[in-house]
Amino acid sequence: MIPLCVPEIRGNELKYVKDCIDTNWVSSVGSYVNLFEDKFSEYVGSKSAVVTMNGTAALQLALLTLGVGEGDEVIVPSLTFISPINTIKYVGAMPVFVDVCRDTFVMDAQKIEEVITAKTKAIMPVHIYGHPVDMKSVMEIALKYNLYVVEDATEALGSTFNGKKAGTIGDIGCFSFNGNKIITTGSGGMLVTNNLIYGDRAKFLSTQTKVVTENKAFYHPEVGYNFRMPNLLAAFGVAQLENIKDYLKIKRENAVYYNELLGEVKGITLPIEKENVENCFWLYSILIEDEYGITRDALVQKLNEEKIEARPFFMPIHGMPPYKNCKHGDLSVTAEIYARGINLPSSVGLKKQDIEKICEIIKKANK
Ligand SMILES: *Cc1c(COP(=O)(O)O)cnc(C)c1O
Repeated sequence: MIPLCVPEIRGNELKYVKDCIDTNWVSSVGSYVNLFEDKFSEYVGSKSAVVTMNGTAALQLALLTLGVGEGDEVIVPSLTFISPINTIKYVGAMPVFVDVCRDTFVMDAQKIEEVITAKTKAIMPVHIYGHPVDMKSVMEIALKYNLYVVEDATEALGSTFNGKKAGTIGDIGCFSFNGNKIITTGSGGMLVTNNLIYGDRAKFLSTQTKVVTENKAFYHPEVGYNFRMPNLLAAFGVAQLENIKDYLKIKRENAVYYNELLGEVKGITLPIEKENVENCFWLYSILIEDEYGITRDALVQKLNEEKIEARPFFMPIHGMPPYKNCKHGDLSVTAEIYARGINLPSSVGLKKQDIEKICEIIKKANK
Protein backbone atom coordinates (compact mmCIF):
# COMPACT_ATOMS: atom_id res chain seq x y z
CA MET A 1 0.00 0.00 0.00
CA ILE A 2 1.26 3.49 -0.88
CA PRO A 3 -0.21 5.62 1.92
CA LEU A 4 -1.63 9.12 1.47
CA CYS A 5 0.63 10.91 3.90
CA VAL A 6 2.60 9.33 6.75
CA PRO A 7 5.18 10.69 9.21
CA GLU A 8 8.88 10.91 8.43
CA ILE A 9 11.01 10.20 11.52
CA ARG A 10 14.71 10.39 10.76
CA GLY A 11 16.33 12.84 13.17
CA ASN A 12 16.82 13.43 16.89
CA GLU A 13 13.30 12.38 17.94
CA LEU A 14 14.39 9.40 20.05
CA LYS A 15 17.35 11.26 21.56
CA TYR A 16 15.26 14.20 22.77
CA VAL A 17 12.39 12.02 24.00
CA LYS A 18 14.92 9.87 25.86
CA ASP A 19 16.29 13.02 27.44
CA CYS A 20 12.80 13.78 28.83
CA ILE A 21 12.60 10.27 30.28
CA ASP A 22 16.13 10.35 31.69
CA THR A 23 15.48 13.67 33.42
CA ASN A 24 11.89 12.78 34.46
CA TRP A 25 10.48 15.88 32.70
CA VAL A 26 7.73 14.10 30.78
CA SER A 27 4.65 16.17 31.50
CA SER A 28 3.28 19.58 30.64
CA VAL A 29 6.16 21.73 31.79
CA GLY A 30 9.77 21.31 30.75
CA SER A 31 12.47 22.86 28.65
CA TYR A 32 11.36 21.28 25.35
CA VAL A 33 7.97 22.99 25.63
CA ASN A 34 9.65 26.39 25.69
CA LEU A 35 12.24 25.35 23.12
CA PHE A 36 9.59 24.11 20.69
CA GLU A 37 7.65 27.37 21.01
CA ASP A 38 10.81 29.45 20.53
CA LYS A 39 12.13 27.47 17.57
CA PHE A 40 8.72 27.41 15.95
CA SER A 41 8.16 31.15 16.20
CA GLU A 42 11.68 31.68 14.90
CA TYR A 43 10.94 29.42 11.92
CA VAL A 44 7.62 31.02 10.92
CA GLY A 45 8.64 34.52 11.92
CA SER A 46 6.09 35.29 14.64
CA LYS A 47 6.60 37.19 17.90
CA SER A 48 4.83 34.60 20.00
CA ALA A 49 3.91 30.89 19.89
CA VAL A 50 1.78 28.77 22.22
CA VAL A 51 1.91 25.00 21.88
CA THR A 52 -1.30 22.98 22.29
CA MET A 53 -2.40 19.34 22.39
CA ASN A 54 -3.73 19.45 18.81
CA GLY A 55 -4.54 21.83 15.99
CA THR A 56 -8.22 21.93 16.85
CA ALA A 57 -7.38 23.18 20.35
CA ALA A 58 -5.15 25.87 18.82
CA LEU A 59 -8.04 27.08 16.66
CA GLN A 60 -10.47 27.09 19.58
CA LEU A 61 -7.90 28.91 21.67
CA ALA A 62 -7.48 31.53 18.93
CA LEU A 63 -11.21 32.29 18.94
CA LEU A 64 -11.31 32.39 22.76
CA THR A 65 -8.30 34.69 22.84
CA LEU A 66 -9.99 37.15 20.48
CA GLY A 67 -13.25 36.99 22.43
CA VAL A 68 -15.28 35.47 19.58
CA GLY A 69 -18.40 33.90 21.11
CA GLU A 70 -22.17 33.84 21.50
CA GLY A 71 -24.02 35.74 18.77
CA ASP A 72 -20.97 36.21 16.54
CA GLU A 73 -20.59 34.99 12.99
CA VAL A 74 -17.34 33.69 11.55
CA ILE A 75 -16.75 33.45 7.80
CA VAL A 76 -15.13 30.18 6.78
CA PRO A 77 -14.97 27.92 3.71
CA SER A 78 -17.21 24.84 3.52
CA LEU A 79 -14.54 22.92 1.61
CA THR A 80 -12.24 22.11 4.52
CA PHE A 81 -11.55 19.53 7.16
CA ILE A 82 -14.30 20.05 9.76
CA SER A 83 -12.02 21.12 12.60
CA PRO A 84 -12.17 24.95 12.18
CA ILE A 85 -15.97 24.82 11.79
CA ASN A 86 -16.38 22.81 14.98
CA THR A 87 -14.26 25.28 16.95
CA ILE A 88 -16.57 28.13 15.89
CA LYS A 89 -19.44 26.09 17.34
CA TYR A 90 -17.46 25.26 20.54
CA VAL A 91 -17.19 28.97 21.40
CA GLY A 92 -20.90 29.55 20.73
CA ALA A 93 -20.50 31.43 17.45
CA MET A 94 -21.95 30.48 14.04
CA PRO A 95 -20.04 29.57 10.88
CA VAL A 96 -21.05 31.35 7.66
CA PHE A 97 -19.78 29.56 4.58
CA VAL A 98 -18.04 31.18 1.66
CA ASP A 99 -17.02 29.67 -1.68
CA VAL A 100 -13.54 28.63 -2.83
CA CYS A 101 -11.44 29.36 -5.93
CA ARG A 102 -11.36 26.77 -8.68
CA ASP A 103 -7.62 27.09 -9.28
CA THR A 104 -6.23 27.17 -5.71
CA PHE A 105 -9.04 25.24 -3.93
CA VAL A 106 -9.01 27.76 -1.06
CA MET A 107 -11.43 30.42 0.22
CA ASP A 108 -12.38 32.97 -2.46
CA ALA A 109 -11.59 36.34 -0.89
CA GLN A 110 -13.64 38.09 -3.59
CA LYS A 111 -16.81 36.49 -2.23
CA ILE A 112 -16.28 37.35 1.45
CA GLU A 113 -18.02 40.73 1.39
CA GLU A 114 -21.24 39.11 0.12
CA VAL A 115 -21.69 37.27 3.42
CA ILE A 116 -20.62 39.95 5.91
CA THR A 117 -23.38 41.05 8.30
CA ALA A 118 -23.53 43.20 11.44
CA LYS A 119 -22.80 40.02 13.44
CA THR A 120 -19.60 39.09 11.59
CA LYS A 121 -16.71 39.06 14.02
CA ALA A 122 -13.95 37.15 12.25
CA ILE A 123 -12.74 35.55 9.05
CA MET A 124 -11.10 32.12 9.15
CA PRO A 125 -9.13 31.44 5.97
CA VAL A 126 -8.12 27.79 5.65
CA HIS A 127 -5.08 27.20 3.45
CA ILE A 128 -6.19 23.74 2.34
CA TYR A 129 -3.72 21.32 0.79
CA GLY A 130 -0.99 23.95 1.12
CA HIS A 131 -1.88 26.86 -1.16
CA PRO A 132 -2.40 30.06 0.85
CA VAL A 133 -5.61 32.07 0.60
CA ASP A 134 -5.28 35.55 -0.97
CA MET A 135 -4.33 37.09 2.37
CA LYS A 136 -3.84 40.58 0.95
CA SER A 137 -7.54 40.80 0.09
CA VAL A 138 -8.57 39.11 3.34
CA MET A 139 -6.61 41.62 5.41
CA GLU A 140 -8.03 44.59 3.45
CA ILE A 141 -11.58 43.36 4.05
CA ALA A 142 -10.83 42.72 7.73
CA LEU A 143 -9.53 46.26 8.10
CA LYS A 144 -12.51 47.77 6.28
CA TYR A 145 -15.10 45.92 8.42
CA ASN A 146 -13.07 45.72 11.63
CA LEU A 147 -12.91 41.92 11.73
CA TYR A 148 -10.41 39.52 13.25
CA VAL A 149 -8.53 37.06 11.07
CA VAL A 150 -7.63 33.58 12.33
CA GLU A 151 -5.60 31.62 9.80
CA ASP A 152 -6.02 27.87 9.77
CA ALA A 153 -2.52 27.13 8.52
CA THR A 154 -2.61 23.51 9.67
CA GLU A 155 -2.07 22.30 6.09
CA ALA A 156 0.30 25.07 5.07
CA LEU A 157 3.32 24.96 7.36
CA GLY A 158 6.16 26.42 5.29
CA SER A 159 3.92 27.98 2.62
CA THR A 160 4.40 31.71 2.03
CA PHE A 161 2.29 34.62 0.78
CA ASN A 162 4.14 37.75 -0.37
CA GLY A 163 7.23 36.43 1.40
CA LYS A 164 5.51 35.91 4.75
CA LYS A 165 4.86 32.48 6.19
CA ALA A 166 1.24 31.32 6.12
CA GLY A 167 -0.16 31.67 9.63
CA THR A 168 1.71 34.89 10.45
CA ILE A 169 -0.41 37.32 8.42
CA GLY A 170 -3.73 37.33 10.30
CA ASP A 171 -4.21 38.25 13.97
CA ILE A 172 -3.55 34.63 14.93
CA GLY A 173 -2.44 31.58 12.95
CA CYS A 174 -2.81 27.90 13.89
CA PHE A 175 -0.88 24.76 12.99
CA SER A 176 -1.33 21.02 13.54
CA PHE A 177 1.21 18.29 14.22
CA ASN A 178 -1.12 15.39 13.60
CA GLY A 179 0.55 12.36 12.02
CA ASN A 180 -0.39 13.33 8.45
CA LYS A 181 0.83 16.94 8.60
CA ILE A 182 4.14 18.44 7.38
CA ILE A 183 5.76 17.75 10.74
CA THR A 184 4.25 15.68 13.53
CA THR A 185 4.34 15.16 17.28
CA GLY A 186 1.84 12.29 17.10
CA SER A 187 -0.78 14.84 18.03
CA GLY A 188 -0.16 18.51 18.63
CA GLY A 189 -0.79 22.07 17.60
CA MET A 190 0.61 25.59 17.75
CA LEU A 191 -0.92 29.04 17.92
CA VAL A 192 1.22 31.90 16.61
CA THR A 193 0.73 35.65 16.70
CA ASN A 194 2.65 38.89 16.31
CA ASN A 195 0.54 40.48 19.03
CA LEU A 196 2.19 39.79 22.41
CA ILE A 197 -1.03 40.53 24.28
CA TYR A 198 -2.80 37.78 22.33
CA GLY A 199 0.16 35.45 22.89
CA ASP A 200 0.10 35.94 26.66
CA ARG A 201 -3.67 35.66 26.77
CA ALA A 202 -3.62 32.41 24.76
CA LYS A 203 -0.98 30.90 27.07
CA PHE A 204 -3.01 31.95 30.12
CA LEU A 205 -6.29 30.48 28.79
CA SER A 206 -4.56 27.27 27.70
CA THR A 207 -3.08 26.67 31.17
CA GLN A 208 -6.30 26.85 33.24
CA THR A 209 -5.82 30.63 33.84
CA LYS A 210 -3.52 29.56 36.66
CA VAL A 211 -2.05 32.28 38.85
CA VAL A 212 0.31 31.18 41.64
CA THR A 213 -0.25 33.31 44.71
CA GLU A 214 2.38 34.40 47.23
CA ASN A 215 1.74 31.36 49.45
CA LYS A 216 2.01 29.07 46.37
CA ALA A 217 -1.70 28.35 46.09
CA PHE A 218 -3.46 28.39 42.71
CA TYR A 219 -5.89 31.18 41.88
CA HIS A 220 -8.05 31.18 38.70
CA PRO A 221 -9.74 34.47 37.78
CA GLU A 222 -11.77 33.01 34.89
CA VAL A 223 -12.73 29.75 33.16
CA GLY A 224 -9.62 28.22 31.68
CA TYR A 225 -8.68 25.22 29.55
CA ASN A 226 -6.08 22.48 29.64
CA PHE A 227 -4.75 22.64 26.11
CA ARG A 228 -1.09 22.01 27.02
CA MET A 229 1.32 19.77 25.17
CA PRO A 230 3.55 17.49 27.29
CA ASN A 231 7.32 17.91 27.21
CA LEU A 232 7.69 14.41 25.68
CA LEU A 233 5.82 15.49 22.56
CA ALA A 234 7.45 18.91 22.42
CA ALA A 235 10.83 17.13 22.39
CA PHE A 236 9.64 15.08 19.42
CA GLY A 237 8.50 18.30 17.76
CA VAL A 238 11.85 20.04 18.22
CA ALA A 239 13.51 17.14 16.40
CA GLN A 240 10.93 17.22 13.59
CA LEU A 241 11.35 20.96 13.12
CA GLU A 242 15.10 20.49 12.64
CA ASN A 243 14.32 18.69 9.37
CA ILE A 244 11.52 20.83 8.02
CA LYS A 245 13.54 22.44 5.24
CA ASP A 246 14.43 19.03 3.84
CA TYR A 247 10.85 17.84 4.10
CA LEU A 248 9.57 20.87 2.20
CA LYS A 249 12.23 20.50 -0.46
CA ILE A 250 11.27 16.85 -1.02
CA LYS A 251 7.55 17.67 -1.13
CA ARG A 252 8.22 20.32 -3.76
CA GLU A 253 10.33 17.92 -5.83
CA ASN A 254 7.57 15.32 -5.62
CA ALA A 255 4.96 17.86 -6.75
CA VAL A 256 7.16 18.92 -9.67
CA TYR A 257 7.61 15.29 -10.69
CA TYR A 258 3.85 14.59 -10.50
CA ASN A 259 3.25 17.71 -12.63
CA GLU A 260 5.76 16.54 -15.17
CA LEU A 261 4.23 13.07 -15.48
CA LEU A 262 0.59 14.20 -15.41
CA GLY A 263 1.03 17.36 -17.47
CA GLU A 264 0.15 15.67 -20.75
CA VAL A 265 -2.87 13.77 -19.50
CA LYS A 266 -6.08 15.19 -20.99
CA GLY A 267 -8.71 16.14 -18.47
CA ILE A 268 -6.44 16.38 -15.44
CA THR A 269 -6.08 19.83 -13.87
CA LEU A 270 -2.85 20.19 -11.93
CA PRO A 271 -2.37 22.17 -8.71
CA ILE A 272 -0.99 25.65 -9.13
CA GLU A 273 1.15 28.11 -7.27
CA LYS A 274 0.28 31.78 -7.71
CA GLU A 275 3.23 34.11 -8.42
CA ASN A 276 3.38 35.67 -4.98
CA VAL A 277 3.03 32.34 -3.22
CA GLU A 278 5.02 29.28 -2.20
CA ASN A 279 2.81 26.21 -1.90
CA CYS A 280 4.11 23.58 0.54
CA PHE A 281 2.13 20.95 -1.45
CA TRP A 282 1.04 19.27 1.75
CA LEU A 283 -1.28 16.99 -0.24
CA TYR A 284 -0.67 16.91 -3.97
CA SER A 285 -4.15 17.48 -5.41
CA ILE A 286 -5.66 17.29 -8.89
CA LEU A 287 -9.06 17.83 -10.50
CA ILE A 288 -10.68 15.28 -12.82
CA GLU A 289 -12.41 17.17 -15.62
CA ASP A 290 -15.18 15.73 -17.85
CA GLU A 291 -12.66 15.36 -20.66
CA TYR A 292 -10.81 12.68 -18.71
CA GLY A 293 -13.68 10.29 -19.46
CA ILE A 294 -14.29 8.59 -16.12
CA THR A 295 -15.45 10.13 -12.86
CA ARG A 296 -13.40 11.11 -9.85
CA ASP A 297 -14.93 8.28 -7.82
CA ALA A 298 -14.13 5.73 -10.53
CA LEU A 299 -10.49 6.86 -10.57
CA VAL A 300 -10.21 6.80 -6.76
CA GLN A 301 -11.56 3.26 -6.83
CA LYS A 302 -9.06 2.16 -9.46
CA LEU A 303 -6.19 3.67 -7.48
CA ASN A 304 -7.40 1.99 -4.30
CA GLU A 305 -7.64 -1.35 -6.09
CA GLU A 306 -3.98 -0.95 -7.03
CA LYS A 307 -3.16 -0.36 -3.34
CA ILE A 308 -2.72 3.37 -3.69
CA GLU A 309 -4.34 5.47 -1.03
CA ALA A 310 -6.01 8.33 -2.91
CA ARG A 311 -8.86 10.30 -1.41
CA PRO A 312 -11.61 12.60 -2.66
CA PHE A 313 -11.44 16.25 -1.58
CA PHE A 314 -13.10 17.23 1.71
CA MET A 315 -16.84 16.79 1.54
CA PRO A 316 -18.39 20.26 1.94
CA ILE A 317 -19.46 20.84 5.54
CA HIS A 318 -22.61 22.85 4.75
CA GLY A 319 -24.37 19.60 3.79
CA MET A 320 -23.61 17.83 7.07
CA PRO A 321 -26.24 17.50 9.83
CA PRO A 322 -24.72 19.85 12.45
CA TYR A 323 -24.24 22.65 9.92
CA LYS A 324 -26.95 22.27 7.30
CA ASN A 325 -28.89 25.26 8.53
CA CYS A 326 -25.95 27.66 8.56
CA LYS A 327 -25.91 30.75 6.37
CA HIS A 328 -23.82 30.73 3.25
CA GLY A 329 -23.15 32.55 0.01
CA ASP A 330 -23.00 30.97 -3.44
CA LEU A 331 -21.13 27.67 -3.08
CA SER A 332 -21.13 26.49 -6.68
CA VAL A 333 -17.35 26.18 -7.00
CA THR A 334 -17.22 24.29 -3.69
CA ALA A 335 -19.70 21.72 -5.02
CA GLU A 336 -17.92 21.45 -8.33
CA ILE A 337 -14.42 20.92 -7.09
CA TYR A 338 -15.54 18.57 -4.36
CA ALA A 339 -16.91 16.37 -7.17
CA ARG A 340 -13.64 16.55 -9.10
CA GLY A 341 -10.81 16.67 -6.57
CA ILE A 342 -8.42 13.91 -5.58
CA ASN A 343 -5.52 13.97 -3.12
CA LEU A 344 -2.64 11.73 -4.19
CA PRO A 345 0.05 10.16 -1.97
CA SER A 346 2.30 12.92 -0.66
CA SER A 347 4.50 11.54 2.12
CA VAL A 348 8.04 12.86 2.44
CA GLY A 349 9.12 9.22 2.14
CA LEU A 350 7.36 8.72 -1.22
CA LYS A 351 9.74 7.24 -3.81
CA LYS A 352 10.17 8.34 -7.42
CA GLN A 353 9.01 4.89 -8.54
CA ASP A 354 5.84 5.31 -6.44
CA ILE A 355 5.02 8.52 -8.29
CA GLU A 356 5.72 6.81 -11.61
CA LYS A 357 3.44 3.90 -10.70
CA ILE A 358 0.62 6.21 -9.59
CA CYS A 359 0.86 8.32 -12.74
CA GLU A 360 0.91 5.24 -14.98
CA ILE A 361 -2.36 4.08 -13.42
CA ILE A 362 -3.90 7.52 -13.90
CA LYS A 363 -2.81 7.55 -17.54
CA LYS A 364 -4.45 4.16 -18.21
CA ALA A 365 -7.49 4.22 -15.93
CA ASN A 366 -9.71 6.00 -18.45
CA LYS A 367 -8.82 3.77 -21.38
C1 LIG B 1 -5.42 18.78 10.52
C2 LIG B 1 -6.31 19.95 10.46
C3 LIG B 1 -6.72 20.66 11.61
C4 LIG B 1 -6.34 20.32 13.03
O1 LIG B 1 -6.14 19.03 13.25
P1 LIG B 1 -5.80 18.30 14.64
O2 LIG B 1 -6.04 16.89 14.26
O3 LIG B 1 -6.75 18.81 15.67
O4 LIG B 1 -4.39 18.58 14.99
C5 LIG B 1 -7.48 21.79 11.44
N1 LIG B 1 -7.85 22.21 10.22
C6 LIG B 1 -7.49 21.56 9.10
C7 LIG B 1 -7.90 22.14 7.79
C8 LIG B 1 -6.73 20.40 9.17
O5 LIG B 1 -6.40 19.77 8.05
